[in-house]
Amino acid sequence: MEFYKSERGGDVCLYQAFEYIVKMRREEGVIHWRCREYRKFRCKATLITKGDEVMKQQNEHCHGANLARARANLVVSQMKEDAAAQSTTTRNILGSRLEGVPATVLANMPKKGSIERRIRKARQTAQVPLPEPVSKQKNKN
Ligand SMILES: [Zn+2]
Repeated sequence: MEFYKSERGGDVCLYQAFEYIVKMRREEGVIHWRCREYRKFRCKATLITKGDEVMKQQNEHCHGANLARARANLVVSQMKEDAAAQSTTTRNILGSRLEGVPATVLANMPKKGSIERRIRKARQTAQVPLPEPVSKQKNKN
């Protein structure tokens, strides 16, 4: 099970190759999730978690899983977290997060320019400065 943020900043849970979004938060960290595709496919699959534990799983998905796309979403979310958490260049973030990512996942990622924009935006939103360039002529980031 993995947790990350959607493009709009909502919480996403990746569980058994399917993505879920928050339906309801209960006390003591209990979260009710519904399939991210519930609208598109009228999918009724739901999940109840507490921390990293699944307490209940209800209804089958009425559509196929797209794990490569889910993992692509996860990688982009991690890049944005990196940008917000530390002063590092966009190129460094791309380099470290794309290392070892399988081709099937890469094929599901947004275009490079779009990813770069998202990283820059996450950095700006978090007001994290770029590292001082070693040489201002060469390093344009
Ligand atoms: Zn579903």
